Amino acid sequence: MAVASPARADVVVLGAGIVGVCVALHLQTRSRAVVLLDRRGAAEETSFGNAGLIQREGVYPYGFPHDFGALLRYAFNRTIDAHYHLSALPRLAPFLWQYWLYSRPAEHHKVAHRYARLIEHCVAEHDALARDAGASDIFARQGWLKLFRSERERDRRFAEAERVHREFGIEHNYLDARAVQEAEPYLAPVIAGALHYTQPVSVNDPQRLALVYLRRFEELGGRFMQGNAQTLERDGDGWRLQTAHGALTAGEAVIALGPWAGGLTRALGYDLPLAVKRGYHMHYRAAGEARLNHPVLDFERGYFLAQMSRGMRLTTGAEFTRRDAIKTPVQLGRAEPIARDLFPLAERLDAEPWMGARPCTPDMLPVIGKAPRHANLWFAFGHAHHGLTLSAVTGRLVAEMVVGEAPFVDPTPFAPERFTR
Ligand SMILES: Cc1cc2nc3c(=O)[nH]c(=O)nc-3n(C[C@H](O)[C@H](O)[C@H](O)COP(=O)(O)OP(=O)(O)OC[C@H]3O[C@@H](n4cnc5c(N)ncnc54)[C@H](O)[C@@H]3O)c2cc1C
Repeated sequence: MAVASPARADVVVLGAGIVGVCVALHLQTRSRAVVLLDRRGAAEETSFGNAGLIQREGVYPYGFPHDFGALLRYAFNRTIDAHYHLSALPRLAPFLWQYWLYSRPAEHHKVAHRYARLIEHCVAEHDALARDAGASDIFARQGWLKLFRSERERDRRFAEAERVHREFGIEHNYLDARAVQEAEPYLAPVIAGALHYTQPVSVNDPQRLALVYLRRFEELGGRFMQGNAQTLERDGDGWRLQTAHGALTAGEAVIALGPWAGGLTRALGYDLPLAVKRGYHMHYRAAGEARLNHPVLDFERGYFLAQMSRGMRLTTGAEFTRRDAIKTPVQLGRAEPIARDLFPLAERLDAEPWMGARPCTPDMLPVIGKAPRHANLWFAFGHAHHGLTLSAVTGRLVAEMVVGEAPFVDPTPFAPERFTR
């Protein structure tokens, strides 16, 4: 019996979350023959259920809190924005310690300067991909609102936003209580003010964005295949792996496995400090005529609410535990009654809460670049709270490095070597 020879690609991109899709699309645009591989469909994991924001304002990645009041609140494990499994803490402790060190104000400031070099391109790079895919209208351009319940917090955050504006050019408007009511008439009158970030854009279905990019990738000749990335093995200078359609060989491989990147990189001999912050969502019908004109963050309560194509999506903050621990949507349970008091939500629309796992590094920067000890292997993961935001930027950067073009952003701060030296 004749044995079929393996399918061949120039590049295999492992993981079809929004990051992998963007990497694959950018490579295919550069005339590489690309296979995008996932064990499921495209964007069915973390990239499925996020809050849908392209956070142009997010130059400060989410740090570990350093003020005493916040630490005390977190210690009681009763907040909505953060929750931890006590049993997971011993294993998470080394990561959390590093995270805490990088979040000290002076360090965080340095991190922000590196991060801003990626963030500043996030909207322009998504616009370019969407335009090429014939879907320029997929983004809503009304920005988003950070809501404050107390005047103290409002004034503190207004001053902070002013500093970030001076340093990074992040644009915003200050809304007082009346202006918030005018902008969002269905919110209960309990808001003392809001920051309106005007540069970010948003989508009402993050998976749809990934599928639009995937369609463009396939129009250009790219192939999507199902298979298990863990079967990746050396094949001369290149790579070989098993797909649902048989063996595949590729000259180069890109690991874009989001929260699962640690498994494959460990198997290849890399001990990277990766962890996850899990998060949940639930959809609700808006009662009566109620609607939100902007996505909103109830800042002092720690949950996010946005009008999505499926309904009002409530998303929660960070849950620190093992990636595969059973779902414990306690933050959702705490947020729901508070959200109902703020905005008229009717019944739940999902049978059970959705859960995703933000892929995190302790220095809050993604891992983008060449694998330190393997030729023709590339890393593109660790985008934490901003994987949707930074996917198009990462896709372009990785593709430029793989094909040998001059990178449009200096990739040095994101190189995997920072963890392997
Ligand atoms: C509640 C919540 C709200 C968020 N809100 C925002 C937001 O508003 N804006 C923003 O920018 N970011 C947001 N994020 C973060 C964002 O969703 C993630 O950073 C992003 O989705 C990560 O994308 P990814 O492609 O790296 O990973 P994923 O989307 O998880 O993709 C990884 C892929 O790898 C595949 N895979 C895993 N193992 C294997 C294997 N062995 N073989 C083959 N395939 C495999 C998976 O099936 C999956 O498709 C939010 C996250 C959460 C949880």
